[in-house]
Amino acid sequence: MAKEIIGQKEKTRYWQFYQEIIGTRSAFKNQHQKDIKTDEEIIKKRSKEGKHLIDKEKIEIDEKLLNELFRNFIPILRKYETFDDVEIQDLEQKKEKIGLGKLVMSVLVGDLENLKSLAQEHNLNPDLLLFFGLNLGQTFLELYAQKLKGKFDQENWLKGSCPVCGSFPAMEKLRREDGKRVLWCGFCGTQWHYKRIMCPFCGNEDHNSLRYFFTGGDSSLAENPFRVDVCDKCKKYIKTIDERKMPENKILDFSLENINTLYLDILAQKEGYESSTYWMIATPEKGPV
Ligand SMILES: [Zn+2]
Ligand SMILES: [Zn+2]
Repeated sequence: MAKEIIGQKEKTRYWQFYQEIIGTRSAFKNQHQKDIKTDEEIIKKRSKEGKHLIDKEKIEIDEKLLNELFRNFIPILRKYETFDDVEIQDLEQKKEKIGLGKLVMSVLVGDLENLKSLAQEHNLNPDLLLFFGLNLGQTFLELYAQKLKGKFDQENWLKGSCPVCGSFPAMEKLRREDGKRVLWCGFCGTQWHYKRIMCPFCGNEDHNSLRYFFTGGDSSLAENPFRVDVCDKCKKYIKTIDERKMPENKILDFSLENINTLYLDILAQKEGYESSTYWMIATPEKGPV
């Protein structure tokens, strides 16, 4: 179970920290788009068979590129003192032995047990491993997703899982233009349409067991763009942003909003609902769940 982030000051600091991390990820992606190779034949075949385009378990990421991005994150971790400096140095020394690719793979396939045993085996902070596994892994999956943009059938992909990497969504929005429901993959950043009344996790369409709640009391409902949608059949939740209630000039960045709305995860879990991606918000306060 999550621990609450204490105080506004820490919250702002996290927000700034993640903005810098996400900025670094973007710069890296711009620089390395050309280095991502995909097998067109396999992609075409998977698409024809109605499968998501890439198999996360089979992607191979160049260790050199992983190391480069790893190094880019270090000054930000030090600047914000997000983790103990001794722990960071320890990981820097041991990362070759562990293999960053192996670390990333444990996170991409959601094998948190393996992550914990890696941490134990090498006497490292599991939160730190989760942080790197996620931020390295997400950056590369986003690169794949950028490359594969437009290669899946947006109109006919009606599944609750991501058309590019097959993960369940971490968040969703109701689109500004027309209120249409759009799901967001926290692993690769892909967005896709989905039925308005249907649970993405179990396919439940019974409107009696699908509902949502806001936070902040009734008075704020009219302007509050953030809510939690829950399914009483599978007991899962998803965080929703109603883009129509956001300021006109605001461009929605799901990666940042996912961090910013950690309080909704805490609330939903207190209500007895589960997320399939909550552990993806890596903060030292929370740690792997
Ligand atoms: Zn995805
Ligand atoms: Zn459900």
